[in-house]
Amino acid sequence: MLKNDQLEAWDRENFFHPSTHLAEFARGNLPHRVITGGKGCHITDREGNRLLDAFAGLYCVNVGYGQQEIAEAIATQARELAYYHAYVGHGTEASITLSKMILDRAPDHMSKVYFGQSGSDANETNVKLIWYYNNILGRPEKKKIISRWRGYHGSGLVTGSLTGLELFHKKFDLPLAQVIHTEAPYYFRRPKQDMSEEAFAAHCAAELEELIQREGPETIAAFIGEPVLGTGGIVPPPAGYWEAIQEVLARHDILLVADEVVTGFGRLGTMFGSDHYGLKPDLITIAKGLTSAYAPLSGSIVSDKMWKVLEQGTDENGPIGHGWTYSAHPIGAAAGVANLKLLDEQKLVENAGTVGAYLNKVMAEAVGEHAHVGEVRGEGMLCAVEFVKDAETRELFDASEKVGPGIAAALLERGVIGRAMPQGDILGFAPPFCLTQAEADEIAAKTAEAVKQVLG
Ligand code: PLP
Repeated sequence: MLKNDQLEAWDRENFFHPSTHLAEFARGNLPHRVITGGKGCHITDREGNRLLDAFAGLYCVNVGYGQQEIAEAIATQARELAYYHAYVGHGTEASITLSKMILDRAPDHMSKVYFGQSGSDANETNVKLIWYYNNILGRPEKKKIISRWRGYHGSGLVTGSLTGLELFHKKFDLPLAQVIHTEAPYYFRRPKQDMSEEAFAAHCAAELEELIQREGPETIAAFIGEPVLGTGGIVPPPAGYWEAIQEVLARHDILLVADEVVTGFGRLGTMFGSDHYGLKPDLITIAKGLTSAYAPLSGSIVSDKMWKVLEQGTDENGPIGHGWTYSAHPIGAAAGVANLKLLDEQKLVENAGTVGAYLNKVMAEAVGEHAHVGEVRGEGMLCAVEFVKDAETRELFDASEKVGPGIAAALLERGVIGRAMPQGDILGFAPPFCLTQAEADEIAAKTAEAVKQVLG
């Protein structure tokens, strides 16, 4: 194993880390960690620490670390043909097979898949397709995209705009003008304590309707949402939410983009979050779980309805002016094929549903009654604990107290990785689907210890 004593100095001098306090890292006030290996739900660092990764990297290593079948598929593809492009009708056995495997698993009304590399570029593609679609239909003014506060859709220019988290806008001159935000379906923060879930869902739909009327329905092209809010705090929707939202969208001829970068390929215990909540999207964004992050690959799954208009567009205007060098990269595609096979063979989607429900149960038992725990919530293999100063009033801690990051650090000292979500004091868990009940017990028990250490 590489043991290079200069790695820490090189890291601090040369490496621009994403989503990092740059100055503190450069000054040496933030830890650096070199990860060297992984197996199942565990990773190891070069100091030899073995950590239970209860966030699966960035909720992406869904089949777990060290799956040799995927590594072999990547190696074989690299030896036979590391690269060829997908422009003008070119493909590889892997990319064509993967597109069929995705469509076989996607909702019936979906038609084609366009491949990119990341969730961000897939959502960038989606916005371009939506604008193209409305131009072909002769409605050039129908272009605005509605997203939710607390949504996460990437960190590019358009996608960072779609993201509804302050950190991703501040000082970047975002959001861009074509993007507007509506209320998050965040039942814990409902405006009135005695509101039922259904009443809150109706309230969110009414807020959306009001926004559409204010802007003019003829200017609104699409609505984008994650089936379960992810980076915004792991927030499942209140009962009836998606039904109520889809009713509003249908009435105004507004497209629906289901951003399934986190929920796609099994995280909720169903193949797609759209199946789970009865969504009928026009576009589905996929990334992370498509390859379990063994290689970068993303996709935009396009519905029959949109596909027909895209074909009409190319009849009228020539080839579609959209493509990346690495669209449908053969190594990513080979990883995707092997990954989806493994999901089936090892029954990992079922496991995500059953062990995920177990994790949520034991987490609620371990910390749910603590005076500073406002809520334990989750769905499938997603779980979150939200900390508040006062559980009765749901009053927040002051951000400067860094309660969420402090608890995540205390948990890490105990060998478990959870994620302090970027907005609010929320500790998130999204383990690999191969998690066992014993590992779920360990996560819950160590979380209880970490909470006790920080909050008493
Ligand atoms: N959409 C969702 C729902 C995500 O959670 C993410 C990343 O976490 C993205 C899009 C962006 O994906 P990427 O980081 O691969 O660009």
